Amino acid sequence: MHVMVLGAGLSGVTTAWYLTQAGLRVSLLDRQPGAGLETSFANGGQISISHPEPWANPGAPAQILRWLGRPDAPLMFRPSRDPAQWRWGLRFLLECLPARTHRNTAAIAALAVWSGQQLRALRAQLGLQYDQLGRGILHLFYTQAEYLKAHERARALRAFGIDARVLDRVQCLALEPALAARAGTLAGGIHAAGDESGDAHQFTRALAERLAAAGATLHWETELLGLEAAPGGDIAAAHVRRADGSSEVLRADAWVVCLGSYGARMLAPLGIRLPIYPVKGYSITAPVSNPALAPSVSLTDESRRIVCSRLGERLRVAGTAELNGFDTVVRPERIAAITDWVQAHFPGAIDAARAEPWAGLRPATPGNVPLIGRSARANLWLNTGHGTLGWTLACGSAAALAELMCKRRPGVDFPFLDAS
Ligand SMILES: Cc1cc2nc3c(=O)[nH]c(=O)nc-3n(C[C@H](O)[C@H](O)[C@H](O)COP(=O)(O)OP(=O)(O)OC[C@H]3O[C@@H](n4cnc5c(N)ncnc54)[C@H](O)[C@@H]3O)c2cc1C
Repeated sequence: MHVMVLGAGLSGVTTAWYLTQAGLRVSLLDRQPGAGLETSFANGGQISISHPEPWANPGAPAQILRWLGRPDAPLMFRPSRDPAQWRWGLRFLLECLPARTHRNTAAIAALAVWSGQQLRALRAQLGLQYDQLGRGILHLFYTQAEYLKAHERARALRAFGIDARVLDRVQCLALEPALAARAGTLAGGIHAAGDESGDAHQFTRALAERLAAAGATLHWETELLGLEAAPGGDIAAAHVRRADGSSEVLRADAWVVCLGSYGARMLAPLGIRLPIYPVKGYSITAPVSNPALAPSVSLTDESRRIVCSRLGERLRVAGTAELNGFDTVVRPERIAAITDWVQAHFPGAIDAARAEPWAGLRPATPGNVPLIGRSARANLWLNTGHGTLGWTLACGSAAALAELMCKRRPGVDFPFLDAS
């Protein structure tokens, strides 16, 4: 069977890899000149198994209202005339119901734990290098009210099989001495020792190289214009445009959609409605100017929703979420909020003048649960919609999809799709 994987971000490259390992003939296409150049390019770098709770939770609506009008709001809704944005927003509110949040959290947690195992196995198999660190993630609480809930939250994580330990301020500092500058305001934290960090773009690029060496066909600078299907039937072909402007028709026996935020638009003409909408985020990547002042444990500031990962000699700091359509403009005020955070928490740690700003579109479902499995067309499969956790969930989602396509049950309890 020849499978064509559409999109070469984290989801597409890992999907292509696991399908190749399952013995299938695989092609991968992307409009970019290489792998991982869109949303998978400069994310927060966290393998955050310890953050399964989605943004859509019972506390979210009130929190979003409190942040309204603040230019540095971690979550921001910029209303547009796009009906898809309003549909997504309403479904997001629905997913904030306690029972839905609980169900979504459990599904994400199970997949995240499994995905961590898959990533470690893949790394051991291939010896991939991507500035990875295994010092865990430290979730930081800067208000007493949040810290008071830490024990309950750590217990809930442990119930999902996730290693999580509550640390007081002194223990946080012992684990990560670079926190000293703001130690006075720190209430405490949760350390998830099994979590990791690493550069998703380096990982994706390295895996794409192995993929080519394993015999997969990689079509770069190949823009997918549309999929052709028999009425109600299988996908027969893909219409693409090459870098030189020429058009071509590509054929395969099965297709996997890993197109990030653009998948919903691509499938709409086939009558398939994916509940995916872009949620924009920002990051900076700055050279570390003083290693003793820069953190090496990956950090999550729970109050500001900012994450931070040490990537070799660089520090990646990411955050913010805007519901603002497909706009990828890098807004200086959003970047400034992130840069200010680093300079306040780790003064002297980075060379801010050489920081590289970036914005990307998280392909988010309302409940942050990805869409993995078969679509309404028998030979069209989905591995997309990973939202805030596409790096964390990449290997597990792809390994699971490969199992499903080979008619095997993946070893994880997750609501996989099977619309056929
Ligand atoms: C600021 C920020 C911080 C984040 N931090 C983290 C984190 O710390 N941990 C974590 O787990 N996740 C994080 N994420 C989420 C994670 O980065 C995403 O979920 C993930 O990158 C999505 O991968 P993807 O392969 O689905 O999409 P993409 O990486 O966008 O890949 C989709 C691919 O499809 C291609 N494509 C689209 N349309 C076409 C077309 N018509 N023709 C051809 N090719 C096409 C694109 O070129 C692209 O390469 C973060 C995201 C952001 C924005």
